[in-house]
Amino acid sequence: KEFRNNVKPNWCPGCGDFSIQAAIQRAAANVGLEPENLAVVSGIGCSGRISGYINAYGLHGIHGRALPIAQGLKMANRELTVIASGGDGDGFAIGMGHTVHAIRRNINVTYIVMDNQIYGLTKGQTSPRSAEGFKTKSTPDGSIESTLSPLEIALSAGATFVAQSFSSDLKQLTMLIEEGIKHEGFSLINVFSPCVTFNKINTYDWFKEHIVNLDSIPEYDSSNRIQAMTKLMETGGMLTGLIYQDKSRKSYEDMVVGFRQEGIANQDIQISEQDFDKLVAEFK
Ligand code: SF4
Repeated sequence: KEFRNNVKPNWCPGCGDFSIQAAIQRAAANVGLEPENLAVVSGIGCSGRISGYINAYGLHGIHGRALPIAQGLKMANRELTVIASGGDGDGFAIGMGHTVHAIRRNINVTYIVMDNQIYGLTKGQTSPRSAEGFKTKSTPDGSIESTLSPLEIALSAGATFVAQSFSSDLKQLTMLIEEGIKHEGFSLINVFSPCVTFNKINTYDWFKEHIVNLDSIPEYDSSNRIQAMTKLMETGGMLTGLIYQDKSRKSYEDMVVGFRQEGIANQDIQISEQDFDKLVAEFK
């Protein structure tokens, strides 16, 4: 099972996004997928290039809109494993409305956010994940806005799978993506992915110093939503690992189209050859 293709990523050397690409490829192989069973949909940003770097169906969408496309794919073809990905600007600024509603919809899509706490593609502006006081070209005197806490928002919105990892921890990241793919419902995996070119504050060393790995809290119970929220708040959102999972809630497609057994892509088309030709002609 080969999820690598011959496209050479043009991310800056050292960018955290390389590891996320590798983790998706490993996780897809580990759960037994074939390339033709996987679709990777991305938004806009440095992160958005990832859909072209994986040997699977790939769709590089528009800014903040990876999730509507990914959800449409899943509804049309339930047999497809659908991964959506994007940066923190893509998913938590322009795309935040889609993120929250996909979460509460609980559709079976894995959403991997490459969180570098800055806009990298446009050469370094403050993002929703940047810290207060963060100085960039768009906030030369320091950001005066509070930092968005996406995982707390996800928990409040009824998320059934919330995880966080660090691009340097390939083992944990791969395991979490595997679990996200296997989860029957929407899985949000936020990944700290340093932008080595424009973010000189949230570096690899900075993350190593601030991350609290859930492995260090043996009594932690990932089925306890209140504990998840409390720990996230206590650690300033720096927890890594499987933060919360609810296996009891059915996925959106199970509730809506379960009675049809098949998504649209696999349903018989009841149409005559004549009408089909007419339909095709309309699109020419
Ligand atoms: Fe990665 Fe930053 Fe370079 Fe973009 S600008 S490829 S996020 S290091």
